Amino acid sequence: MAQPKSCAIVGGGPAGLMAAEMLAEAGWDVTVFDQMPSLGRKFLMAGIGGLNLTHSEALEHFKGRYRGPLGLPVMIDAFTPQALREWCEALGEETFVGSSGRVFPRSFKASPLLRAWLRRLAGKGVATRTRHRWLGWRGDALLFDTPEGEVSTTPDAVVLAMGGASWPRLGSDGTWQDLLGAEGVALSPLRPSNCGFTIGWQEHVGSKFAGTPLKSVSFSFGNETVLGEAVITEAGIEGGAIYALSAPLRDEIDRAGEAVLTVDFKPALDVSEIENRLKRNRAGDSLSNRLRKLGLSRAAIAIMRESHHPLPDSADQLAAVVKATNVPLRGVYPIERAISTAGGVSSASVDDNLMLKARPGVFVAGEMLDWEASTGGYLLQGCFASGHRAAYGVLAHFG
Ligand SMILES: Cc1cc2nc3c(=O)[nH]c(=O)nc-3n(C[C@H](O)[C@H](O)[C@H](O)COP(=O)(O)OP(=O)(O)OC[C@H]3O[C@@H](n4cnc5c(N)ncnc54)[C@H](O)[C@@H]3O)c2cc1C
Repeated sequence: MAQPKSCAIVGGGPAGLMAAEMLAEAGWDVTVFDQMPSLGRKFLMAGIGGLNLTHSEALEHFKGRYRGPLGLPVMIDAFTPQALREWCEALGEETFVGSSGRVFPRSFKASPLLRAWLRRLAGKGVATRTRHRWLGWRGDALLFDTPEGEVSTTPDAVVLAMGGASWPRLGSDGTWQDLLGAEGVALSPLRPSNCGFTIGWQEHVGSKFAGTPLKSVSFSFGNETVLGEAVITEAGIEGGAIYALSAPLRDEIDRAGEAVLTVDFKPALDVSEIENRLKRNRAGDSLSNRLRKLGLSRAAIAIMRESHHPLPDSADQLAAVVKATNVPLRGVYPIERAISTAGGVSSASVDDNLMLKARPGVFVAGEMLDWEASTGGYLLQGCFASGHRAAYGVLAHFG
């Protein structure tokens, strides 16, 4: 009987584990290597927020959420949000659609899903080598640093799935960039995605209101507007609604050194309604009181004061500020603090099967690749789908 072919998966996050599962099912001898003491740490961290696995919107819409030249929409066609839900349910984790259309496991956690998945992978013969830090190649052999010293292996195929560079303490530290760069693989610089921004608050907004949420506010940049929530930080602003605008904001800061975010503190009211309400105030009411009666928080008023100093007294001008306060963003929070990473292995460096042109037989999946998407389940779906694609690529190449 012919020996089964072997594949080393480097990186045991969602992308690598999905590739491992498909290859083991196809009868390959699969080993997952990871530098951490356990697998899927970032996946578990995503579970702290409920594990937004994917999104229920129409597929055509869904596929439009990915930025970058990599063919993720094609990969999503081959592993759809519905397929991801069925995969999850086969592991005993029922999924549901939240009010925003986002899809979560019923348990709202990653740990039961990951436990069941790792059990199933072990049952399919997938071997795991933790505390194995990939050091690159010596000839065709993969080299790893381990507590017992250097070890090497020469599998038939390799899937690299070492993630981006956000939250490096969870294992994905981006150090693979130098190793692949030395092999002649073209890389786009890793940049923060779904990240916060520095503002340079004056007037104590940061020190006084750090940690304070801004709820039901809308944020605009360019022709995009996002209704949602953000949090004031000591040095700036972050949170879901900001993450959704973070790619164009980041690009504008890179280009121009600054990006102006426009905040509408009362998106449910139009400007004339606000003006009328402000006019109804008693004579002698302080400006802060008039704004508080409108339902604005102290934090919102502080931001308005800082951006328009002094605040206008007339109802029409004040209403205009409530509807459109301009906040200049001066910088991007570091990648270590971002939810995800933009940049990585460029689409020109891989073929349609995600195989490195510079290293035939070596495939790349997940956040290591040059694509980005906002939060909402698009990140995990993209990682699962590219892991699926890389495994398909291995099978097609060695077919
Ligand atoms: C706080 C937080 C919340 C999130 N919430 C969500 C969410 O709700 N929904 C969503 O869609 N996405 C979410 N994400 C993003 C999502 O978790 C990531 O996109 C996804 O985990 C990336 O998968 P990956 O397999 O590409 O890489 P990773 O999950 O980062 O896994 C890469 C693995 O490679 C290993 N590795 C790295 N370098 C080496 C090396 N040199 N040698 C050996 N091993 C190495 C790492 O240890 C790691 O285990 C969240 C991220 C964060 C930080």
